[in-house]
Amino acid sequence: MKVISQTDAEVFVKTGAKEFNAEKGDVLTPGARDVLREFGVRVNYGGAVSPSAGGNVVNAAADSQLFNSPLAEKLKKEICDIGRRIWMREYCDGNGGNISTRLTPNRFLCTPTGVSKGFLTPEMLCMVDERGKQVAGTWKRTSEFMTHLAIYNATPDAVSVCHAHPCHAGAFAIKQLQPPPRLIPELEVFVGEVPVAQYDTPGSAATAEAVGKLAPQHQSIIMGLHGVICWGKSVEDAYFKMEITDAYCRTVILAQALPGQAAISGEKMSELLALKKGMGLPDSRYGLKPAELCETDPWEEMCGSHGCSSPVTPWNPMTVDAGKPATDAETEALVQKLTDEIIAKLNK
Ligand SMILES: [Zn+2]
Repeated sequence: MKVISQTDAEVFVKTGAKEFNAEKGDVLTPGARDVLREFGVRVNYGGAVSPSAGGNVVNAAADSQLFNSPLAEKLKKEICDIGRRIWMREYCDGNGGNISTRLTPNRFLCTPTGVSKGFLTPEMLCMVDERGKQVAGTWKRTSEFMTHLAIYNATPDAVSVCHAHPCHAGAFAIKQLQPPPRLIPELEVFVGEVPVAQYDTPGSAATAEAVGKLAPQHQSIIMGLHGVICWGKSVEDAYFKMEITDAYCRTVILAQALPGQAAISGEKMSELLALKKGMGLPDSRYGLKPAELCETDPWEEMCGSHGCSSPVTPWNPMTVDAGKPATDAETEALVQKLTDEIIAKLNK
């Protein structure tokens, strides 16, 4: 069994032959089918001539073959694996979150609606076309696929999309607040700025538009009052962006309680961006000078205009109520009480 690609079909039509003999179980990609149809080539599947190379029967059969191909099965397993990981890390709640990946230029695998991402099995996955119409799989596709599609359409490099509701990045989402930059190199290199897409109803065209616009320059996007959506060059890569984004937000939230306002300098940011450019990753800040890269103070951005509760109050565990140490007299009284209880027990 093999996958016959568009390139294979283009090579074949140059021979001038009008019949293409596929082995039983071979998969023709939609691109290959289009090319063969365009040149009036009939497709024989294991000796049986297809009734019409352009007919729906052939399309459905080809979709079914593609959906059950070794490549699709491998990707389905990857999606299930990442689903389990996002659930284990508490990035999705109830049936929240969804994952998809490109299978061919116009076919995508995606998670079904209404299912916990922690308990997906390969047979639950769906295949959809480039307009979002489901073409294979018995479970109904996620209602948020159109948002994924907006990313694929805007970003040819996007191979997979992962959407979830992680709590720390979610805290920024409900405040419609972009995480401050220049605090951890991991985020700067592998993710970059995480912009906030304007809120609209999940799955709506407006949400798809808002996310699609930001996708070419941003691999991780906070969906205002909703969650996070990331794209990557593989299913795991898209998920990595989610992990890095949420870990960053979590660290920033924790750091707000501590004194100090350190940040990566403009010069060092330039170094990180040069590194990133070499890796072929997108970033909205390429071309900016060091001084432009550090124009805003990350802590000012977080706490200045948005009003953190106690941004720079020196933190001292000895003064925090919950950790308030007992006085000598209290300790002595406690020791005395325990000693009395033990002696009383021994005397019984
Ligand atoms: Zn969602």
